[in-house]
Amino acid sequence: MSKFWSSLVSELQPYVPGEQPKMANLVKLNTNENPFGPSPKVIEAIKSELNDNLRLYPDPGGLALKQAIARYYGVTAKQVFVGNGSDEVLAHVFQGLLKHDKPILFPDITYSFYPVYCGLYQIQSNVIPLTESFEINPDDYKQPNGGIIFPNPNAPTGRYLGLEHVEDILKANPDSVVVVDEAYVDFGGETAIALVDRYPNLLVSQTLSKARSLAGLRAGFAVGNEELIEALNRVKDSFNSYPLDRLALVGSIAAFEDEEWFETSRQGVISERDRVTAELERLGFDVLPSKANFVFARHPEHAGADIAAKLREQGVIVRHFNKPRISEFLRITIGTAGQNDALLKSLVNL
Ligand SMILES: *Cc1c(COP(=O)(O)O)cnc(C)c1O
Repeated sequence: MSKFWSSLVSELQPYVPGEQPKMANLVKLNTNENPFGPSPKVIEAIKSELNDNLRLYPDPGGLALKQAIARYYGVTAKQVFVGNGSDEVLAHVFQGLLKHDKPILFPDITYSFYPVYCGLYQIQSNVIPLTESFEINPDDYKQPNGGIIFPNPNAPTGRYLGLEHVEDILKANPDSVVVVDEAYVDFGGETAIALVDRYPNLLVSQTLSKARSLAGLRAGFAVGNEELIEALNRVKDSFNSYPLDRLALVGSIAAFEDEEWFETSRQGVISERDRVTAELERLGFDVLPSKANFVFARHPEHAGADIAAKLREQGVIVRHFNKPRISEFLRITIGTAGQNDALLKSLVNL
């Protein structure tokens, strides 16, 4: 606290990202990065952009990237918004589309940035408990609200809500924006982007950080009705007109063009996830069904915090949340086969 701080800053409870330890030979399974790495075509595109043009501002609208995303998903470029990571896109969404008189709704166990944005933008929230089996029940989202947001698949549970249930929520809330945060959708879910033309209240956000393995580049986007996208453009142009730099723009476009790399990478994650799930179950863990690039698991006889500490001693870092309902769970990112083997080996003698 400092007398120089605004009262808002004094009251903020900032998001705490998973740590990025600087230890050698670490098996880093704590922040849902994709171990297969970006497409070599992304690296080539970025290298070829490393030239004198860096003295020029990038295209403030990022039109070429919007067009690449629009082509990929069969929408128009005006239905696409791009930002510096989907966290930034979501920040603009909270400020521009979710700040109304009524509280917004999101699950009790979900992406922990949502309550942080509520604090930053002074938005009231009504937190909806997931069911006993950690699922979203669409019926819980049929009450007055100023907007709705949830990840699908949810984080950190990994559970996926079928599109028919997403539609159920959309139909029950024609006067609210429903934001589906699809950070993990490419690992086995189905995107709701196909629904944007039918539901003017639907906004889908995605990121290049996970399935396209570009967490370090900082690129994310949203797709929705033009009116919703226009709100985001208005916020962006009142905040930072140039969120995506020249390197991020060309790298992101190349990522969407290399379909083959994307397919191989996500299939690699999916098959390793299914193997890790089966192996964890063999070791006595309860594993929630996951459609993400991580699993959420607990052991009936060992405390989550203890397992996390033991893994750390062996150089394996996973995420443990000391929060109600989930303190016995570990969120384990799916790594390469070798990293997953190291994890499983460390869990044999708990
Ligand atoms: C990782 C993640 C994001 C943000 O990703 P960016 O790296 O900021 O694009 C958004 N939502 C959820 C649920 C995530 O797990």
